[in-house]
Amino acid sequence: MKYDAIVIGGGHNGLTCAAYLARAGRKVLVLERRHVLGGAAVTEEVFPGFKFSVCSYVVSLLRPEIIRDLDLPRHGMELLPLDGTLTPMPNGDHLWRVNDHEKTRREIARHSRLDAEAYDEYGRAMIEMGRFAKPILSMTPPDPTSLDPRGLLELLAIGKRFRGMSAHDRINQVQLLTMSAADFLDQWFETDVLKATMSASGIIGTFLGVRSPGTAYVLLHHYMGEIDGSFRSWGLSRGGTGAVSNAIADAARRFGAEIRTETPVAKILTRNGKATGVALENGDEFHASTIVSSVDPNHTFLRWLDEKDLPPDFITAVKRYKYRGSSGKVNLALDGLPDFTCMPGPGPHLRGAISISPGVNYMERAYDDAKYGRFSRRPYMDIVIPSLTDPSVAPPGKHVMSCFVQYAPYELRTADGRRQPADEWDRQREAFGDTVIDTIAEYAPNIRERILHRQVLTPLDIERDFGLTEGNIFQGELTLEQLFFLRPVPGWAQYTTPVQQLYMCGSATHPGGGIMGAPGKNAAEKILGK
Ligand SMILES: Cc1cc2nc3c(=O)[nH]c(=O)nc-3n(C[C@H](O)[C@H](O)[C@H](O)COP(=O)(O)OP(=O)(O)OC[C@H]3O[C@@H](n4cnc5c(N)ncnc54)[C@H](O)[C@@H]3O)c2cc1C
Repeated sequence: MKYDAIVIGGGHNGLTCAAYLARAGRKVLVLERRHVLGGAAVTEEVFPGFKFSVCSYVVSLLRPEIIRDLDLPRHGMELLPLDGTLTPMPNGDHLWRVNDHEKTRREIARHSRLDAEAYDEYGRAMIEMGRFAKPILSMTPPDPTSLDPRGLLELLAIGKRFRGMSAHDRINQVQLLTMSAADFLDQWFETDVLKATMSASGIIGTFLGVRSPGTAYVLLHHYMGEIDGSFRSWGLSRGGTGAVSNAIADAARRFGAEIRTETPVAKILTRNGKATGVALENGDEFHASTIVSSVDPNHTFLRWLDEKDLPPDFITAVKRYKYRGSSGKVNLALDGLPDFTCMPGPGPHLRGAISISPGVNYMERAYDDAKYGRFSRRPYMDIVIPSLTDPSVAPPGKHVMSCFVQYAPYELRTADGRRQPADEWDRQREAFGDTVIDTIAEYAPNIRERILHRQVLTPLDIERDFGLTEGNIFQGELTLEQLFFLRPVPGWAQYTTPVQQLYMCGSATHPGGGIMGAPGKNAAEKILGK
């Protein structure tokens, strides 16, 4: 059978792209390698009765227009509020920021009056930065290497909006693009724990430390969900993040898309410089006039195409694209709740995120370990206990706890700097898991007694199980040199590729990673000529 479009990969972006193409009347086939849809936005019953958002765990950036266009709530998507962030401190104190503005202000004032005032100013400034950046998320980046006047006009329009901001906001914007998260926050705040916990979102998905220039921008990337203003923007998905993917898949099917799982693609077929179909690992072939890959450039160009299909300088640029996975995940099945020394007992503080980020030096030391090729002895962690908000994910009285961990560098090295083989992670997996538990136990000593089962995902597991090269959670680092018209490579940031009728629509394209759907939607619009 011949299709109008074949989408490779049933992650949320591939599904989003398929849904928009099918909505426009195209005959679409989605081919997913795994037995389950969702890619890194997936729910799996890892232990009987315990359902985990195995990889991504909070939904922050999903574009409101996609929720509307695809009517996702009707297809079962429900986002539940994640109220605030608790940061336990080694001295038994804590910082607990919640969605209630006044409460948070009082809490910060407990640490520093000046910081409580600065927090309001900072919030306002970030809203302005977000306002400026947000329209960029849904645009196809212009190509500065081309003389196409449309691209130049788009760049000019961004320049004009930049000029329209106040001088103060313009300075902030330049600082965001050039400074480290820690330095940027230093300009606003004096409380170490506040700066540390806020700087954390500057390093997620990068192989950089909170003091590395460029991380301030990543702060903004993660802040944009909050700017949508409603709690829906920062939340847990009922049934896990797989429920978001499944809702998008249902919408795609309703528009007529066909979705197949356990169909791994091994090759993109071409004729005369044009993509014509795909071949599966078992040799079956499917043909279509358009092929869209939601998988990263390493798979799409270096594995599924022949070198002769691509210009040499493009191949060089694809090989230069940086993945450098730096994160791991530990999912715990618990028979009761952890008890934090800083706020004993159960309570609303356990319903939000729990951030293990007690100081800026702590964060930077965690990175120091990774820089030299080992996992952090005391890692940064972002922890959630979704079963408190959504009891459907665990048996009665039991809980699931998700621990996102950084740093876990993909490439491990020996103490004298020699590169270890990739499967070294198989030997270090349990030691990494133990380090995570030991770190949590410093703040919640009862954690060990509560654990029924644990799943430890190293960057190697993330690569093997989810097809994310080097375990990078965003299909490639979210660093400035790999964003906007540079993502994935300069000159090819418009979802097109050097192979005619072959497009890209995953997180490796603008505007990057996160459960956002924007790459999938933008790519569909490009294909549809909108
Ligand atoms: C550990 C972890 C934690 C994260 N936490 C968060 C979070 O809390 N919030 C957030 O917003 N984002 C988070 N992210 C990032 C976010 O999940 C991803 O950016 C996003 O889900 C990527 O979606 P995608 O559709 O672009 O790609 P993917 O989800 O990578 O989808 C690609 C799909 O292609 C499939 N595929 C691969 N090879 C083949 C093949 N040969 N044939 C057919 N199909 C193939 C894969 O199985 C996969 O389903 C996290 C990611 C990870 C890994």
